[in-house]
Amino acid sequence: MHGQPFANSSPFFKEMAVEHTHDDRPVLFFDIDNTLYSSSAKIAEAMGVRIRAYIKSLGLSEEEASNLQSQYYTQYGLSLLGLRRHHGVDPMDFHEKCDGSLPLEEMLSPDPRVRKLLEDIDRSKCRVWTLTNAYWTHAERVLRILELRDQIEGIVFCDFNLKDEDFICKPQPAFYHWAMHQAGVQDPTKCLFVDDSLSNVEGARRVGWIHSVYFQEGGHQTTEPLHINHLAKAPAKIITKDGISVISNLQQLRVVWPDIFVEAEH
Ligand SMILES: [Mg+2]
Repeated sequence: MHGQPFANSSPFFKEMAVEHTHDDRPVLFFDIDNTLYSSSAKIAEAMGVRIRAYIKSLGLSEEEASNLQSQYYTQYGLSLLGLRRHHGVDPMDFHEKCDGSLPLEEMLSPDPRVRKLLEDIDRSKCRVWTLTNAYWTHAERVLRILELRDQIEGIVFCDFNLKDEDFICKPQPAFYHWAMHQAGVQDPTKCLFVDDSLSNVEGARRVGWIHSVYFQEGGHQTTEPLHINHLAKAPAKIITKDGISVISNLQQLRVVWPDIFVEAEH
């Protein structure tokens, strides 16, 4: 096994350890939800409604449900983690009733501009993966609907089947280390990353993923409900805040990382 030592040394990780052949190419990890499709699809809002209904079904009021949803999302990066830890929620039941019940086929459609962006990445220079806090079935479903699955080499996802003590997601350091192991990359500076969650981008930078980009699309922000902050239209030019490049359109990645794209003709 090579790669960064795991922050999490559970038997699961030892069992899952896989030998990788050495590959010097950088890996570009895309977040999926609200990154590979626009937040205007309102998936986060629809998901928020389902999560609140789920929490209410545990016997809580609307207000309590809203508060807990917000609190757990802020505290853990994923409402599910708090629900599981403090309320004994079965993650697969949660997944089925929340992500799994979303009518994604009606809410999402392929965007040829995003597909072209991925096609224009020179694969001899860079590999393309996704890094999501969703379960793999949701990730596969979204990528299939967006007609992007063939552009993605590997999917790093949250394994909802793991025991609570082993469960990891963005922005926990162990999750980024796990992603590096999965993709077979040793040097954190070879990880390129783009996410619509600032805390996930900051988490990535803390483990040395210095080439991380915050995708702040104008209009809406964030992946999970309640935190839907309506933003002023984000600036069209790339700005840098605390060393993090902030883009408002995925096409700006061509400017942020010109070296990984095929010769520009755009
Ligand atoms: Mg996202």
